[in-house]
Amino acid sequence: MEEPTEGASLVSGPDGKKRRVSYFYEPTIGDYYYGQGHPMKPHRIRMAHNLIVHYGLHRRMEVNRPFPAGPSDIRRFHTDEYVEFLASVSPESSGDPSFSRHLKRFNVGEDCPVFDGLFGFCQASAGGSIGAAVKLNRGDADIAVNWAGGLHHAKKSEASGFCYVNDIVLGILELLKVHRRVLYVDIDVHHGDGVEEAFYTTDRVMTVSFHKFGDFFPGTGHIRDVGAGQGKYYALNVPLNDGLDDESFRGLFRPIIQKVMEVYQPDAVVLQCGADSLSGDRLGCFNLSVKGHADCLHFLRSFNVPLMVLGGGGYTIRNVARCWCYETAVAVGVEPDNKLPYNEYYEYFGPDYTLHVEPCNMENLNAHKDMEKIRNTLLEQLSGLIHAPSVPFQTTPATTQVPEEVSSQCQIYIII
Ligand SMILES: [Zn+2]
Repeated sequence: MEEPTEGASLVSGPDGKKRRVSYFYEPTIGDYYYGQGHPMKPHRIRMAHNLIVHYGLHRRMEVNRPFPAGPSDIRRFHTDEYVEFLASVSPESSGDPSFSRHLKRFNVGEDCPVFDGLFGFCQASAGGSIGAAVKLNRGDADIAVNWAGGLHHAKKSEASGFCYVNDIVLGILELLKVHRRVLYVDIDVHHGDGVEEAFYTTDRVMTVSFHKFGDFFPGTGHIRDVGAGQGKYYALNVPLNDGLDDESFRGLFRPIIQKVMEVYQPDAVVLQCGADSLSGDRLGCFNLSVKGHADCLHFLRSFNVPLMVLGGGGYTIRNVARCWCYETAVAVGVEPDNKLPYNEYYEYFGPDYTLHVEPCNMENLNAHKDMEKIRNTLLEQLSGLIHAPSVPFQTTPATTQVPEEVSSQCQIYIII
């Protein structure tokens, strides 16, 4: 690994310079289990963490154990009844007739099953994203990472797409206490519907989602869905087809995000790094390499704006671990060796035992002329935006009290 240069912070550091990175990891996260055959595996976060530690990346950032989000923190977005339900349901109680009505109403069952410790999992995921926002709000970090976050489908009063609590919305609400405008960028293969919906009518959050569109979950995210009321034109949707490769993606992502940064001038950025947009994902259908995926983080990092980096989907777990480990390296500004260090999950990474994965030879159904059309439509939409809408700040709300996080380099969770 190359040595990073010393001392540069957000204010002075051009791309490639060191950033102060704060990383949130709950050591029990990998024990949560959605059930047999379920594609969502929290274990992938532990695998990513294990690679991160074996590459020595934890020595280049502050490692925090998140404080679990309490019911009142979660109620800042979700309804009282829904939070009450999540906090009280268990695999044993979910068979009770009194719960069956609730299961249906809150869309809990098949895709979003009741599993052991469900609420604890939600608290850890949301606690990490809220804690990350607090770090950025206080100016204590330039980049804050929570791979257990990014659960973008959860709705105000409903679970959806393996997501129960929308840690992203909660994190953004925390950021809005001190930042006028927050940009949300979503590179999961699925549309970031829960976050878009939460901020659809405000210009204080701009949402930009790149996703597969057409006969694909959750079905929303049409290019003509642009926000409403005060939020009109502050939602951006980039609909894509199967087989998206690095080159096509970069050709859309960079110019669109460049323009968004120019016209919107966000005070903070949240990047959802769903890894189901990688080649070979169990549920996804894109063909991105780890480097192509991480280029989004690389590019956003270069703007020197406080940045929150979150996980999301990702169902071929060996590749999810590779991707989030590499992206942690991008955050701290080093280029890790392609040869994987020996680690607790080494057998998952055979037969090549490398960090990077090559894209496959699937056909890219995103025609050049279609991509050009999408790019032009969106750039045109953006040029009609009011530059950096101003926000009247009446009072600055109290910053969420986060008890002193367990922090430092002595508390490293390698685990099991
Ligand atoms: Zn997804």
